[in-house]
Amino acid sequence: MDEQCIFCQVVAGEIPATRVLETDQVLAFRDINPQAPVHVLVVPREHVTGFGELPASSPTWPALLAAVQEVVRGEGLDNGYRLVINNGARGGQTVPHLHVHVLGGRAMQWPPG
Ligand code: 5GP
Ligand code: ZN
Repeated sequence: MDEQCIFCQVVAGEIPATRVLETDQVLAFRDINPQAPVHVLVVPREHVTGFGELPASSPTWPALLAAVQEVVRGEGLDNGYRLVINNGARGGQTVPHLHVHVLGGRAMQWPPG
């Protein structure tokens, strides 16, 4: 755990969050500032700063993707949804702990900002 990391603190239960899915390796919770009717963040429990920092061979990847799929099913997003991973300052990443945004419940626009 990175003591300074907001999402590590959410994982540890030190910051309250509305949890929607928990597995051994992954936690999903609602975004505090939702950008769509459904806005869930799916994060590995281990601290990894971003997409590029988790090796492609890590077993955390399939665990993360399985959790994302389960959230999509659980939130009833059959009509469509968007997955986002922001990376680094210019990618719009504000919390340096890898997270997948699951957005849905409305029609998405393109291009994103
Ligand atoms: P990023 O900009 O890094 O891709 O996404 C970070 C997301 O985390 C933002 O959508 C922001 O609203 C959300 N967020 C930041 N702090 C908290 C928090 O303490 N609790 C929850 N549930 N979400 C947070
Ligand atoms: Zn962290």
